[in-house]
Amino acid sequence: MFICNVCGFDKLEWPQYLEDDEPNFVICDCCGFQSGYDDLDQGLTFDEYLDKWIKRGAIWVDESKKPKKWSLEKQLKNIKK
Ligand SMILES: [Zn+2]
Repeated sequence: MFICNVCGFDKLEWPQYLEDDEPNFVICDCCGFQSGYDDLDQGLTFDEYLDKWIKRGAIWVDESKKPKKWSLEKQLKNIKK
């Protein structure tokens, strides 16, 4: 399992970026960030995307993947800075 660089969701099936930093066009089940699109096409940094997503209510793209006792604060700690 892989970690989302934006929201810290740690159950991505595929890595967002490949070894040479090539985007893998993976959409996060939690925040919906898509590598290669939101960063390159839309020009957003991870922090900017996270900020926008939180302001929109931090809604999960796939609610079925959301843990029962979910805490965004805890999840964000998964991100290595
Ligand atoms: Zn995410």
